[in-house]
Formats: sequence, C-alpha cells, structure tokens
Amino acid sequence: MQIPNDLDAYFMPFSANRSFKSSPRLISGAEGMFYTTSDGRRIVDGASGLWCVNAGHGRVEIADAVRDQVLGLDFTPSYQVAHPLAFELANRVLEIMPEGYGNVFFTNSGSESVETALKIALAYHQAKGDARRRRLIGRVRGFHGAGFAGTSVGGIAANKRQFANLLPEVDHLNHTHWPDKNAFSKGQPAWGAELADELENLVLLHGADTIAALIVEPLAGAGGVLIPPVGYLERLREICTKHGILLIFDEVITAFGRVGAATAAEKLNIKPDIIALAKGITNGVIPMGAVVIIPDIYEAFMQGPEHMIELFHGYTYSGHPVACAAALATLRIYAEEDLFNRANEMSAYLEEAVHSLNGTKNVIDIRNMGLASAVELEPRDGAPGARGFDVFKACFAENALLRCTGDIMAVAPATIVEKAHIDQMIETLGHMIAVTD
Ligand code: PLP
Repeated sequence: MQIPNDLDAYFMPFSANRSFKSSPRLISGAEGMFYTTSDGRRIVDGASGLWCVNAGHGRVEIADAVRDQVLGLDFTPSYQVAHPLAFELANRVLEIMPEGYGNVFFTNSGSESVETALKIALAYHQAKGDARRRRLIGRVRGFHGAGFAGTSVGGIAANKRQFANLLPEVDHLNHTHWPDKNAFSKGQPAWGAELADELENLVLLHGADTIAALIVEPLAGAGGVLIPPVGYLERLREICTKHGILLIFDEVITAFGRVGAATAAEKLNIKPDIIALAKGITNGVIPMGAVVIIPDIYEAFMQGPEHMIELFHGYTYSGHPVACAAALATLRIYAEEDLFNRANEMSAYLEEAVHSLNGTKNVIDIRNMGLASAVELEPRDGAPGARGFDVFKACFAENALLRCTGDIMAVAPATIVEKAHIDQMIETLGHMIAVTD
C-alpha cells in the first residue's frame, strides 16, 4: 500500500490528530481476527473494529452480497418508494429481537438511530395528545453518538464542553460505577440497583408529565465499559412504566452478540419501548442503523388521512439497498454460526483472562460482561487520559489493537474470537501496563 504523502488533509474524528500524524498507525488490510498494518505487521483486533465487526473481518458472504447488490440495484429513493430487501430486513431484525416489537425504522449510523429514537419518542407523545412531555433524560457517562440530541442526553463531559448550544429540557441520572462498592466485579455488580431510584427524584423535580423518554445504554461503552448492576435496569423499566416515560435502550454496541445474546434486552429479559441499533447490523461493512419500536408507538402515528406522511423524519439512505444486502448476509452469518451463543461461551474465558491482570501496577479496577471488558488505570497526576493513551499506543506497537477511553482500556473482541487471541490481547495489555509509567 502507498502511504499518503500529506496526512494533514484528513481531519480525523475523535482523534489526537497531531499525535497521530507525527507517528501514524495505518491499517491496510484485515482478515478474521487480524489487521495488517501498512508496514506489514499482523495486529490482533481486540476492539471488533469499533465494536462493530462482530463476526470478524473479511467475510466473503457479505462481500458477495454487497457486490451483487451494487450491480443489481444500487439505489432507490427512500421516500414514497422502496425496494423488497428493506422489508425483508425489517422482518429479519424483528425475528431476532425479543418478542413484542412491531416495526423497524432504518438509519445510517448509531448517532442517527439515537436522533431517530428521541424524535420518535417526542412525536409519539405529541400524537397521543401529550405534547408537554418533552424532557429527555440520559445518564452521566452515557454516550449516544455525535448528533445534537445524542450529545445532549450523553454524559461524557469532554464530548459536550466544546458545543455550547445543546438541547434544553434535558436531565441526567448518575452513572452506576462506584468503585468503593463495585470494583473488580465479575459480570454484573451485585450492588447498585437502588441507583435507579434517582429517576423518581427527577420525576418529582420535573413532573412525570413533562418527561418524554429515558435513554440508557444497557452497558455503557464509551463512558468506560460500565456494567449494569443486577436489578438496576429492571428498576428503571418499572419506574418508566409507572410514569408513562418511554424507555429507550441504546444497543448500538450491545446488539448483535456483545453480551452473549442478540441484544442486552434479550439477555436481561427487559423490554424497552424503543431499541436503537447500528454497528453489528452489517458487521461494520456498510454504515447502517435501525430503530425498533413496539406496536403501540407505530399505531400512534398511523392516524389521519392516508395520503399524509405519518412521521416527518428520515434519510436519503434509510434502508439503502446495499446496506440491506450487507445486513441480511450478516444476520445469516450470526444465525448459521450460532455466534451469539459462541460469544456467551467465550465470555467466561475473557472474564478469567482479564481479571488475571488484577494486581498489575496502576490497575484500579477490572470489569466485564459478555465479550466486553475493561481495565481501568490510575490516571497520572494532572494528566487524565495520558497513561491510557500511552498504553494504547504501546499495545498497537506490540501488535494488539485495543480501545482506550481516557485511562480505561477496553477489550471487546469479535464473537469468532479464539482463546489464543484473548491470550495475546491480555498478555500484551498486561505487559504494556506494567512497563508504562
Ligand atoms: N450509541 C452508542 C452506545 C455508541 O457506542 C455509539 C458509537 O460508538 C453511538 C451511539 C454512535 O454510533 P455512530 O458512531 O455509528 O454514529
């Protein structure tokens, strides 16, 4: 591969541009659990791409489906016209969701799925004659993509600070990670269900009749792999139901195998009103997202004259034929290779491996659920995130791509991962933590 001469032109997202450009990490190929760098090294992928390549890289079945689709039907308008694959995919998505969902709205990313879910929630209440319900609740340390609404309900300070003019009428619950109570938990922490009761305080403060929806990641990823305490999400569900607040699960990273089931909703047997999806729906190959809703929400819109547009929202590329083809091929792979169960089986090995780093220098917490895990490092004095970034770079230099958010190192491999890959990821991580100041 030819290395670009001028790295400056590309303004990289969520990246330290100057650091990267002074010492680039360029990836030129991928297959299975490995990347190839432009200097010819094989790097084990400990991050499933960006938590999206859940069936491993270079899947021929998806490539074939994409190629055939481009040559057969590359595009149709998405407004007032459609193509059969979008309907087929909507049905396939419903099949692998828990029971009780009725409709699927297509988007092109996790961020768009979040914006769509929040807009549907607001429009739903308006359609039901409840237009006062406008307030949106998120969580501290939550991440819901990069749109204005997602940034507003999100709770990562750095993601918000630069953008002064976010949505009004937003509030936040606290996060669930309290190291004095739940550090070094294996799987769901036993303590913390009572944190859900904070939602009752927000109801008291604002009045239930002003709150449209609560959005939460069942397992918060970008905020540092925060695992839901036992009973916590169940209690949020109860409180939302009691007060007529829609519950939205942002399953952009948890859907399609991450927690050892198609969704966290299925794994935990909780039924949110709306589920936002993306990433793994196409194995990361083609951008796509989806929003899954209960029939009551859809029916609220199906009123008035039939020539009327029921929801004034959508995207040029909603249900894009090529994305649909990629998604159908991806969902077939998940089913044929039983990958959600495989994720469940491998999660015990990942748990044991990652917790073996307990006692390593600077490690202040380790946590895991399914094929998601995190090792939290003590931040350097006055330089939060610096140690994590150094460990991330050192791991990459030693042939393991992990993800760091601040000083939290995440290991979240694809569902096809083998024990030897996990060993390589964890050994590299442990070693690089030990040798990093
Ligand atoms: N929601 C969650 C929970 C995410 O983790 C992400 C991305 O990582 C998003 C939304 C945004 O997805 P995208 O980057 O595809 O817009």
